[in-house]
Amino acid sequence: MTDLLLKNVRVSRADAVDVLVRAGHIARIGPGIDAAADALVEDGGGALLLPGLIEGHTHLDKTNWESPWYVNEVGSALTDRIDNERAWRASTGHDAASHARALALAFLREGTTRIRSHVDVDTDAGLRHLHGVHAIRDELASRVEIQTVAFPQSGLLIRPGTAELLDQALAQGADVLGGLDPSAIDRDPAKSLDVLFGLADRHGKPVDIHLHEPGELGAFTLDLILDRVAALGMQGKVVISHAFCLGGVDARRLDGLLGRLAALDTAVLTTAPPSRPVPAVRACRQAGVTIFGGNDGIRDTWTPYGSPDMLARAMMIGLRNDLRRDDEVDWAFDCVTGAAARACGFADYGLTPGARADLVLVDASCVAEAVVTRKPRRLVVAGGAIVARNGQDAIA
Ligand SMILES: [Zn+2]
Repeated sequence: MTDLLLKNVRVSRADAVDVLVRAGHIARIGPGIDAAADALVEDGGGALLLPGLIEGHTHLDKTNWESPWYVNEVGSALTDRIDNERAWRASTGHDAASHARALALAFLREGTTRIRSHVDVDTDAGLRHLHGVHAIRDELASRVEIQTVAFPQSGLLIRPGTAELLDQALAQGADVLGGLDPSAIDRDPAKSLDVLFGLADRHGKPVDIHLHEPGELGAFTLDLILDRVAALGMQGKVVISHAFCLGGVDARRLDGLLGRLAALDTAVLTTAPPSRPVPAVRACRQAGVTIFGGNDGIRDTWTPYGSPDMLARAMMIGLRNDLRRDDEVDWAFDCVTGAAARACGFADYGLTPGARADLVLVDASCVAEAVVTRKPRRLVVAGGAIVARNGQDAIA
């Protein structure tokens, strides 16, 4: 791979610099870098340089991306949506791999170079979806890094045989073990969590649990989760996705939970939905809790919404959390960049020498303007290669 020299780009409001990319990684950042004679030189035109964006929580296997519109007539209960999706998959023969591929490439065009995708594992689908997403993970590995979470969308204890499938999923290369509402869905949270954490411990894999449970019910479950994080020494290895309960308990209870999350280095994922109580970005940051962002599903049987543009998700996080000052909008941006990398364990990340060269250029004066205006990405570099220009693919 020849060197790539990106000239005349800015990191926030600072003076223009050049970025030298060698063998897929950032070799140098600074003013006036000279390139080797055979290097590919690209003029950044003074655009803002961002690190590759991160989708911290989506479901690539569920999406209808690049398919005809799905007419949503689904009931409002969580179990309605779960049952509807299983029936829809069975009747349509939904091909997780092709849809996952289309959406992953759409993410890449918008500058997202790392994705954590939960993937359904259940007694109807078995590991079919996981195999499909793993094929895409392998095919696109040089451009976009996809982490898979083996996710028991239909419940763990309530569907016998699921724990065994999760065990196989981890043995076959799923990166993370997922979970779902141990109290509300499995109705036996201590046993459910013992099975889940037992599997994670045996395979040495991180855990990422969907916790939709509201108020004190969710807080109760969260304490049970944190007990197991402490007992197994899984600090830095566990994510609580959604954690709506953190938006629905009183201040004293919230302080206690945030204190435990911080002490046990357990991160929180938010999609910042307007329709639910949510963990507050400001409170999490003040308590030292890593909070990061994602879409959840995009254009699937659960929701018509979502977008592969992570700057759009950052803006939603900013709006939902009343982040107005530039330095506060930077927190929303951190949710789809640095904080997401820390929480998910994406290595070699950032705008520093040695990091993987995942670079995004956008016409904006600063990060806050980039988040608010969300212009087409002028240039996307992934793993050291130019992959998109002005929102269009730049590779075959
Ligand atoms: Zn989800």
